[in-house]
Amino acid sequence: MGPGYWAWVIPLSTGNTSIGLVGHDSHIPFEVVRNLENTLAWMREHEPVLARELEGLRVLDFCCLKNYSHNVARAWSSERWALVGEAGAFVDPLYSPGSDFIAFANSFTEEMIRCDLAGGDLTQRARELSALYRSLVVNSIELYAHAAAVYGHPSALLAKVYWDNFTYWSYPCQLFMQGLYRLSGREMDAMIPIGMRYGQLSNRMQLVLAAWAELAPEPTQKGFRGMPSYPSVLIDAHLALRNRWDTKETLDAMRMRLVQAEEIFGEILLRALDAVGPDRVDALIERLGARSWDDLRIDDDRIEATGTVGLARRRALRPLARDVERSLGQPARQVDAATLGRARGPLVARGIRPHDGEEVVLDPGGPS
Ligand SMILES: Cc1cc2nc3c(=O)[nH]c(=O)nc-3n(C[C@H](O)[C@H](O)[C@H](O)COP(=O)(O)OP(=O)(O)OC[C@H]3O[C@@H](n4cnc5c(N)ncnc54)[C@H](O)[C@@H]3O)c2cc1C
Repeated sequence: MGPGYWAWVIPLSTGNTSIGLVGHDSHIPFEVVRNLENTLAWMREHEPVLARELEGLRVLDFCCLKNYSHNVARAWSSERWALVGEAGAFVDPLYSPGSDFIAFANSFTEEMIRCDLAGGDLTQRARELSALYRSLVVNSIELYAHAAAVYGHPSALLAKVYWDNFTYWSYPCQLFMQGLYRLSGREMDAMIPIGMRYGQLSNRMQLVLAAWAELAPEPTQKGFRGMPSYPSVLIDAHLALRNRWDTKETLDAMRMRLVQAEEIFGEILLRALDAVGPDRVDALIERLGARSWDDLRIDDDRIEATGTVGLARRRALRPLARDVERSLGQPARQVDAATLGRARGPLVARGIRPHDGEEVVLDPGGPS
């Protein structure tokens, strides 16, 4: 992995090995990898260890795809056809979401059959399911579309994995596991604003991470960072997938996680502001177009906790902020509270929702 690309090595059950290189046009123009010779030459320069391993091996097949991420306009029809798997949308291989989308598409197809057998309105159902599927695909594609610089930036990448996993387990996974795609009409409407807010926050987060990586580059380094150990909000969100909830419980749980997501968003934004340093705080805000954001959860207490260390810091930070810090490590503390407060000011000025007195508990997974 490095700026603008990552590579995979997957041993296949056939005994062959699949080697893949995923590159962003901004860093690896298509011409550079359009054939096997060019791709191997690129690997020799940028991934010499992998290139050495490949030397002397027989290449059985080579394929290069351009613009492979795409959505579908319509995947279900009242005329009894459905598009499932890679015949329809394709997202990106990084987090291997292929089977997730196959599971969604197959389950949505089952819904169409169920609706047909019950004499329901197939036109409406096809429209609803296609719209839901499209929104899941489009928000998923956004996770990768801006990530070129992040792939070469260890700190931003770590924050990305934390955020992407948290939101993935909190919304799309629960939507699937609790069967919310079975909702229709007004019932489905209750879910839509929750999904839109997750999408909005997540899409903004990808911009924050990209800006962080580009404005404050870091050398790539090898190393391993495991998942956080218990207790952690990430583990809570993951374990909660075992629960079986009715619609109300599921929507409540999604809203509860949304409050947490808003706070985690604030934590990661503060990290990005700190990482770029005092001279580029305004540049980061400008670049994000963040002055029009008015709904962030970064309260005064959190800003005041900026310079604290040790026990004072543990006391000053709320549970979620501590959780983020345990998982992502200590920020460098390059930017003082006054500068962060000034940068944050307009972002919460109009829509500020200080923490409303609610305490976000790292719970074992039930809806609050
Ligand atoms: C190296 C690699 C690793 C992956 N790892 C993961 C992972 O870890 N997790 C995950 O979720 N997803 C992963 N994926 C993605 C996953 O494999 C795909 O999402 C999934 O296989 C798509 O299933 P599909 O049935 O839609 O298409 P495919 O699996 O491509 O099946 C399509 C079939 O149709 C056949 N076919 C094509 N044209 C014709 C024709 N004209 N006539 C008859 N047959 C035809 C093909 O031969 C093929 O057998 C990975 C993909 C790759 C390449």
